[in-house]
Amino acid sequence: MAFLIHNTLSGQLEEFRPLHDNQVGMYTCGPTVYDYPHIGNYRTFVFQDILRRWLNYRGYTLRHVMNLTDVDDNTIRNSKAAELSLRDYTAKYIEAFQADRELLSLEDPEIMVRATDSIDDMVKLIQTLVEKGYAYASEGSVYFRVAAFKGYGQLSKIDLSGIREGARIDSDKYDKNDARDFALWKAPKEGEPFWESPLGPGRPGWHIECSVMSMKYLGETFDIHSGGVDLIFPHHENEIAQSEAATGKLFVRYWLHAEHLIVNGEKMSKSLGNFYTLRDLLAQGYKPSAIRYLLASVPYRRHLNFTFDGLHQAQQSIDRLRNFRFRLTQESFPPDENAALQDRARAARRAFEDAMDDNLNTAEALGAIFAMVRDANTAMDRGEFRANDRAAFLETLERWDRIFCVLEDNDHEKLAKFGFIKPLTVEAADRIDLTDSARAVVGNGHDGAAATELMTDEEIARSVAQRDEMRRQGNFGRADEIRRNLQKAGVILEDSKLGTRWKRK
Ligand SMILES: [Zn+2]
Repeated sequence: MAFLIHNTLSGQLEEFRPLHDNQVGMYTCGPTVYDYPHIGNYRTFVFQDILRRWLNYRGYTLRHVMNLTDVDDNTIRNSKAAELSLRDYTAKYIEAFQADRELLSLEDPEIMVRATDSIDDMVKLIQTLVEKGYAYASEGSVYFRVAAFKGYGQLSKIDLSGIREGARIDSDKYDKNDARDFALWKAPKEGEPFWESPLGPGRPGWHIECSVMSMKYLGETFDIHSGGVDLIFPHHENEIAQSEAATGKLFVRYWLHAEHLIVNGEKMSKSLGNFYTLRDLLAQGYKPSAIRYLLASVPYRRHLNFTFDGLHQAQQSIDRLRNFRFRLTQESFPPDENAALQDRARAARRAFEDAMDDNLNTAEALGAIFAMVRDANTAMDRGEFRANDRAAFLETLERWDRIFCVLEDNDHEKLAKFGFIKPLTVEAADRIDLTDSARAVVGNGHDGAAATELMTDEEIARSVAQRDEMRRQGNFGRADEIRRNLQKAGVILEDSKLGTRWKRK
């Protein structure tokens, strides 16, 4: 089956075919690094990660570029307030963005670049636009002349011919000939950072940044450009105008846009008190894998209604999948095989792949895997599952997880790495009867931290094994004690005929 994607430019589903063999050039608009991105931003970034992973799954080699907008009104205002240079101020948010990405299992783009590292290239493109009559200088700034570019409005389908002088379509507060025109280069205001250039001192506009950085690394025409729907106009429309006016060539072949995320049915906003960053959710104890799952579960062109119920359900769904994999790998089944069951696993794989090929229909891809899990569990309960059926199911599960990336139980490890979990006090460690090696790493941490914050997966596994051994030896008193201690440490044990499985609360 062909990979179909919805191209905003044509307004239709199209078969995806890259420009060069199996190489895909992709550009995604990155964050403006003046604050922590909110979960609506991460809805788009998760969608782009799913897209990346699906292209890789299909055997394409990716060259994915993402910009970091480190100069604009917000970064300038906040860095001034913090009395830091633009570079130092934004470094903190670039670092935080990296941490968030790792928490959400977002793969790194091949190229991630700061806008301010490409100022010279921006100046050159603006000079080209001036030479070709598409741009003009006014009071130290340079504007794009929208009337000169015939294709303006092709992406957003917005007809701007009715907009009169004096109307405002963007927030640039500079003098321009036509209300539709937008700034390419902005003359410095008092106290603002600026770059010296042949255009005069100033800084680039936001739109020129993306035209320049995409073409710099991907060529004048490349395959995919994506972002949230709010970027279609004016940002992406302006990118097309700048790039195509300068090169005379098609800029981007496929434009993909993710719909908005809403919270409890309402637009997310600080004034409504329903505005969340990833960190807000982690502070409330939600796991990164559950957040990723929820953000991935709704196909990207549909509104995603974010609710806490939805987050709890996401966690339960992940648990079901992990429990299934545990059963698949740990339970002993009669020898031989059940061909019909293996066909079931392969059919689920095809259903998942077809769903992804259908414009990344993640909801159906999830449906396909859960239907398989249900059937396999039923077969196991009825004693119809055979030892040689394992591989086919594991294969489908593993392939599915290459895209969704939630099977590995690594939330704790990641949260610890980025300091969202605090180290344990010696006193707390004494209360929970840790083994010697765990005690050795207890330092002078924070008071009141739960033991689960310290125990590593290996530590827990060792305690669980110790308890199993006590039970085998008939020392049930000691076994219960270990269970209680683990419980205090936030670890739940589930005993079954397969042995003991543990998970964190
Ligand atoms: Zn952009």
